[in-house]
Amino acid sequence: MPRVFVALGSNLGDREAHLLQGACDICDVAGCSDLVSSSIFQTAPMGPQDQPDYLNSVCAFECGLEPHVLLGELQAIELKHGRVKNTKRWSARPLDLDILLYGTSQIASVDLTIPHIGIAQRSFVLWPLAELDSELDVPGLGGVQALMVDCERFGIQRYRTGPGESVQDAK
Ligand code: AMP
Repeated sequence: MPRVFVALGSNLGDREAHLLQGACDICDVAGCSDLVSSSIFQTAPMGPQDQPDYLNSVCAFECGLEPHVLLGELQAIELKHGRVKNTKRWSARPLDLDILLYGTSQIASVDLTIPHIGIAQRSFVLWPLAELDSELDVPGLGGVQALMVDCERFGIQRYRTGPGESVQDAK
């Protein structure tokens, strides 16, 4: 089964609870197993600055679902957490879930791009990714550590440490 990495972000409501429960919700999806979560980082918002800071983390798990099926499951979890579909880019949200990597696959379809677009420019994605797997190769882009060196570090700080914590163990 491919190992999948999903980015979690929240800047509305109880941000930490949304991240922790979001990871548990992924764990509960049939076909997803052995989930581990990175530390949580606090990050200044991208785009409009008149919104709260984000909390960000990344989780990794074994996935038996096809990528588009997984995308549908993640979108259902976002809605469960009160996300309102907003056409405005970079708007505030209780929970945002993005598929960063799906094994070694590279996908470019209308509604799904993997590796996630912008992965190499986002320190709030690269830091937790490297924490989960410092030797990780991002298909088409290279090693995560090299990407971190080239990535501008903007407004990110560690919020809560928890590398490799098993969500199932924490339940
Ligand atoms: P966002 O507002 O950032 O959550 O973007 C949501 C849209 O991005 C959805 O309509 C998805 O179809 C699309 N999308 C493209 N690639 C991905 C990906 N790797 N993970 C999640 N959503 C994606």
